[in-house]
Amino acid sequence: MTAKPTAAGAADGALTAHEGGEGDGPVGDVLAPLRAAVGDAHVLSGARVHDDYTHDEAMTVQPVTPLAVVLPASTKEVSDVLRHAARARLPVVARGSGTGLSGGCQPVADGILIAFDRMRAIKEIDTENQVAVVEPGVTLEQLDRALAPLGLIYPVSPGEPAASLGGNVATNAGGMRAVRYGVTRHHVLGLEVVLADGTVMRTGGKFVKCSSGYDLTQLLIGSEGTLAVTTEITLKVEPRLAEAATVLAPFATLAEVAKAVPQIVSSGVDPSILEYIDVVAMAGITGSAGLELGVPEEIKAATMAYLVVVLEGMQADRVEADVEQLATLLSTLGALDVFVLPTTAGAQLISAREKAFFVAKAAGADDIVDAVIPRAGIPEYLARVAELALRHGALITGCGHVGDGNVHLSIFQPDDEHRHALLHDIFTTAIAAGGAIAGEHGIGTAKLEYFLETQDPVTLDIMRAIKRVFDPLGLLGPDRLLGVTGDPG
Ligand SMILES: Cc1cc2nc3c(=O)[nH]c(=O)nc-3n(C[C@H](O)[C@H](O)[C@H](O)COP(=O)(O)OP(=O)(O)OC[C@H]3O[C@@H](n4cnc5c(N)ncnc54)[C@H](O)[C@@H]3O)c2cc1C
Repeated sequence: MTAKPTAAGAADGALTAHEGGEGDGPVGDVLAPLRAAVGDAHVLSGARVHDDYTHDEAMTVQPVTPLAVVLPASTKEVSDVLRHAARARLPVVARGSGTGLSGGCQPVADGILIAFDRMRAIKEIDTENQVAVVEPGVTLEQLDRALAPLGLIYPVSPGEPAASLGGNVATNAGGMRAVRYGVTRHHVLGLEVVLADGTVMRTGGKFVKCSSGYDLTQLLIGSEGTLAVTTEITLKVEPRLAEAATVLAPFATLAEVAKAVPQIVSSGVDPSILEYIDVVAMAGITGSAGLELGVPEEIKAATMAYLVVVLEGMQADRVEADVEQLATLLSTLGALDVFVLPTTAGAQLISAREKAFFVAKAAGADDIVDAVIPRAGIPEYLARVAELALRHGALITGCGHVGDGNVHLSIFQPDDEHRHALLHDIFTTAIAAGGAIAGEHGIGTAKLEYFLETQDPVTLDIMRAIKRVFDPLGLLGPDRLLGVTGDPG
């Protein structure tokens, strides 16, 4: 059961969002304690709320201006803000860099948005334990710049380097390297979070294993800001591999590409990246990056989809031997040819692939689907998606982290009703294939209706019970992930 939050001040002792106050007109009383907590300059309301704060990158989610954007600089300030929000019954949405693709950080109009622009410190890089401790606003590119000179890497690489680690934790972000290194949850060792009532809690630590009670770190990862607000993250980092080769293999059919994937994964060459890019998506991303990969025209003409495989290692000769083994395997699996790209072109292709979302958006895509399925089921899944596209009058192009079964589909169907029916069918197909509706982008507000439609009610009940324990007033991340608003009942 859900109930509306009481931002209008129904609860005893609660402040109201619309009472009069100095400086802010009707919201002054509500904002005053926030200003006391973080300083006047760091509470933005009205016209001072920049457009960037009103949305993320999700295609289907409308911008919303919150009551205020609050910019804390420390855990203590986050705690003070949440304590006040609980007292005032103010809904709270956390925001990292706003690069999310599911509307997860979409503000609520009568709530506050806590943005982590001022919590961007890399607190420690512990080279002996191979651990980095960061504030939630630290971005992937910032962390990479700090780790590179030390010969280290945080290998989880969701495609947008401007994304924050706090956002990555909240969405359990994945990215291209998941096939070798796993996703965010495989690299988070501990968290500091602030609970809905302002209490600070720590989980995990610098240690790499633990068998001491429920694993709250893992529970919080992927909870999309609905259970707590993250203020510090302890991350496992890895040695940075010096040698890399990018292999491009065109195939005449998508089915052959999909069938090749499990064979490559089980071959032992251990790719760091294993992506598929269909011919439409490839034309888009190479065209927009001005990239010429040297594939002869006659091969291009016969190609329906490409596999891109990156192999990495510490020693050039070993990487070379793996490339040879991979090339032989790809040929036996039906590749029309195998190209080992020059280093610069390889890096440019990966970078262009990371921008595939923006290319699809510029081309007029109406939505993005990131369902995940067991990788052996990909050929059947893609065949079914092609049928569904026909049935619902949509154009669907794709690329994705096929090595871990995460196929990204760009959906071109402007009619909301048709698109909803199509997405519903795609998600039920993915679930029937043993998969899930979001492999890495999360549910947020954009996929909420599909999530609620397709989940086992028992699972949803348990999730809501957990939500109740963490956030009894239902103030954190309302209307997303579980659709809980107010008392989760
Ligand atoms: C071009 C492009 C490519 C992308 N490629 C990938 C990809 O390959 N793999 C992938 O997984 N994602 C990808 N993404 C999506 C996006 O980058 C990730 O979802 C990322 O984790 C979002 O981080 P953010 O800092 O922008 O979070 P935001 O968008 O700001 O927020 C995302 C969620 O995290 C919550 N949140 C943020 N900070 C905190 C905090 N401190 N405490 C609690 N909750 C918090 C928000 O409330 C929201 O629910 C891509 C996005 C773009 C634009």
